[in-house]
Amino acid sequence: MKLYNTLTHQVEEFAPAEPKHVKMYNCGPTVYGDQHVGNYRTFAFADTLRRYFEFKGWKVTQIINITDVGHLTQDTIDSGEDKIAVKAREMKWTAMQVAEYFMNRFYADRKTLLMREPAKFTRATDHIEPMKDLIQILLDKGIAYKVGGNVYFDVSKFPAYGKLSGNTLESIKVGESGRVGDEVKEKRHPADFALWKTDDKHLMQWDAPWGRGFPGWHIECSAMSMKYLGATFDIHTGGEDNIFPHHEAEIAQAEAATGKPFVRHWMHARHMMWDGRKISKSLGNVVLVKDMLDKGYTPEEIRYTLVSTRYRERADFSWTSFENSRKALGYLTEFRRRLQDAAKKPGGKGSINLDKVRHDFEARMDDDLDVAGAIGVLQSFRNEGNKAIDQGLGGAEATQALELLEKIGEVFGILGVAAEEKPPDEVVALATARLDARKRKDFKAADEARDKIKALGWSVEDTKDGVKYRKL
Ligand SMILES: [Zn+2]
Repeated sequence: MKLYNTLTHQVEEFAPAEPKHVKMYNCGPTVYGDQHVGNYRTFAFADTLRRYFEFKGWKVTQIINITDVGHLTQDTIDSGEDKIAVKAREMKWTAMQVAEYFMNRFYADRKTLLMREPAKFTRATDHIEPMKDLIQILLDKGIAYKVGGNVYFDVSKFPAYGKLSGNTLESIKVGESGRVGDEVKEKRHPADFALWKTDDKHLMQWDAPWGRGFPGWHIECSAMSMKYLGATFDIHTGGEDNIFPHHEAEIAQAEAATGKPFVRHWMHARHMMWDGRKISKSLGNVVLVKDMLDKGYTPEEIRYTLVSTRYRERADFSWTSFENSRKALGYLTEFRRRLQDAAKKPGGKGSINLDKVRHDFEARMDDDLDVAGAIGVLQSFRNEGNKAIDQGLGGAEATQALELLEKIGEVFGILGVAAEEKPPDEVVALATARLDARKRKDFKAADEARDKIKALGWSVEDTKDGVKYRKL
């Protein structure tokens, strides 16, 4: 299998250090806001990578971090300067409650998008001790230094700094690596970055030998990944914006502390565009999972869209992409239904070269996850399969074809059981209306919607993961 490695800037052979066991860390969300379609494309890439390893029969230990150390101060909450601050003020929430609110929404969205559960979601606020330990090692080694209660990483002590991003110390502009406050005067070099910060106004603070404060963002990923995956592990993923300074800093912290290579293979998803433009609040094109569901798209249609472009290529999506996915997925679902019917009939006529299908699929995926090519293989499989069914394919051969189709579908998180039980749009619309009515506490309208749904032959149930549909 070959994968592009950001560290070496080339496509390389990949195999886990421990045979058939991949140790993978995915940079997760900062939970002070909702994740949008572009973020979920990056998470869907990591999920597909994991699913493909599992398709190969490999074990995957996957860790996803939750950046819940927030930089809220009472002033920002009081000022109500953004939506989150307003929400926190209205709900009388603490910073931690804000984080948990968005963390739970992230978990629910992941479930909606059929993403597999990692071995662990690691919350930064649960790992302050290992972060402090790592900072202490860096101080003891003279690689970090204190200014008052603040601790900085001294990039001049780590000559390899810049090896991931290609930046040099000279090229790094003042303040670029800093995340909080005016650190410029305190730092020995502009590229030095904070490991620990003090700020009286910060709502989240912990005691530490060098001062009460809070950890820098980068240190959390080095500390948590190594705690669960060891000093050296196989794969670290993120969005391309994580390359610098975040991942560059992670490498510096980890390798300076352990003296061992940190990550064997770095993978970064390119940013997704929406209708040819960058996704941003100011452009008003921040599409959330909820928006996609409200448009009537099923989780599988959303997934199919998100994974349909290779992670390293610039995806440019719009609602038309979802329409196209609906069609393409519809053809595959129909093919699956025909295979199910054929499997019940006697065989003997018509055949599909399943070995070739499997081989072609793996060849595309082994080529740095060429998902678009792999989906092409899937659609050719459908064409050939439909012809074979027309010629009388049946019995065990149809069953084997069905199994292969479902196994490949599973890599993309499509053609699961839900595909068959997909509620009609009318039911989805009624369920959405019902939920809105319940939120307004208009229980009469909610009951009416429920009755209409029942009349259409469906039932809906509210769960903590969202609305569950069941065919009556
Ligand atoms: Zn990270």
